Amino acid sequence: MINLKGKVAIVTGAAQGLGKGIAEKLANLEAHVVVSDVNQEGAEITVSEIIEKGGSAEAFLCNVANEEEAKNLVEKTAEKHGKLDILVNNAGINRDAMLHKMNHAQWDAVIGVNLTGVFNTMHPASNIMRKQESGRIINISSASWLGNIGQANYAAAKAGVVGITKTAARELGRKNITVNAICPGFIDTDMTRGVPEKVWDLMVSKIPMGRAGKPEDVANCIAFLSSDQASYINGEVINVGGGMVL
Ligand code: NAD
Repeated sequence: MINLKGKVAIVTGAAQGLGKGIAEKLANLEAHVVVSDVNQEGAEITVSEIIEKGGSAEAFLCNVANEEEAKNLVEKTAEKHGKLDILVNNAGINRDAMLHKMNHAQWDAVIGVNLTGVFNTMHPASNIMRKQESGRIINISSASWLGNIGQANYAAAKAGVVGITKTAARELGRKNITVNAICPGFIDTDMTRGVPEKVWDLMVSKIPMGRAGKPEDVANCIAFLSSDQASYINGEVINVGGGMVL
C-alpha cells in the first residue's frame, strides 16, 4: 500500500486536468501538496476540494516559464516546510500548427512552458534535493515526443523533457534522487476535449484499451514513482496510454 505521509510535493499546472488529478491523488495518499498554476482561482478550488476530503494542500501562483517565479515556488516551498520530497512537472500548453505555418510566437510559447518551465523548477529543486540527499522528480512528457503532425513545437519540447529527465537521472542518482518521465497517451482533459469528434474517435481507435485515459490513470503511476516502492526506478520514460504506443 502506497503512503506518502509527511512528504512535501509540488505539482505544477494543477488547477485542472492531469495536474489536478495528480494533486488529488498525492493528497489522498497523505502528502502535503503545493498546488501550483498560473490560474490562481483554479488552484485554490483544487486546494479547497482536497481540504474538504481531509487532505493537506496550499495554492501557489506560478508561471513556470518565468525563471524567478519557478525558483520562488521551489525555494519558498522548501523553506516553509524544511524540505521538498516530490516535484511533478506537469504544466503544459499546446499551440498546434503545421510546421510550414507555425510562427515563432507559437514555437516560443510551447518551448517556454513545456521545456524551459521544466528546467526552471528542476534547477532549484536539484540543489535542494542534492543537499537533503533524497527526492523524486517526475516530468510529464507526452506520446507526441515521438513526432505528431501539427505539433513540431510540442513534440520538440516533450522530446527535450525526455533528454533532461535522463540526464538528471544520471547526475542525481548518487544523491538518492530519482528522475523519471511519464508519457500520457490520449487523456480526457480540456486539452484534448477541444478536438473535433472525428479526431477524438480516430485517436481512441488507436488505443488497444478502446478508451481515452483519465487523469487518475496517470496519477496512479505518479503515486507509485513517488513512493518508497519505486526507489530503484530511475531515468525511465513510462507510457501511460492504454497501449497507444507499443
Ligand atoms: P490542461 O490544459 O487541462 O491543463 C494544463 C494546466 O497547466 C492548466 O491548469 C494551466 O493553467 C496550467 N498552465 C499552463 N501554462 C502554465 C504555466 N506557464 N505555468 C503554470 N501552469 C500553467 O492540460 P492537461 O491535459 O491536463 O495536460 C497536463 C500535462 O500533460 C501537459 O504537460 C500536457 O502536455 C501533458 N499531456 C497531456 C495529454 C492529454 O491527452 N491530455 C497527453 C500527453 C501529455
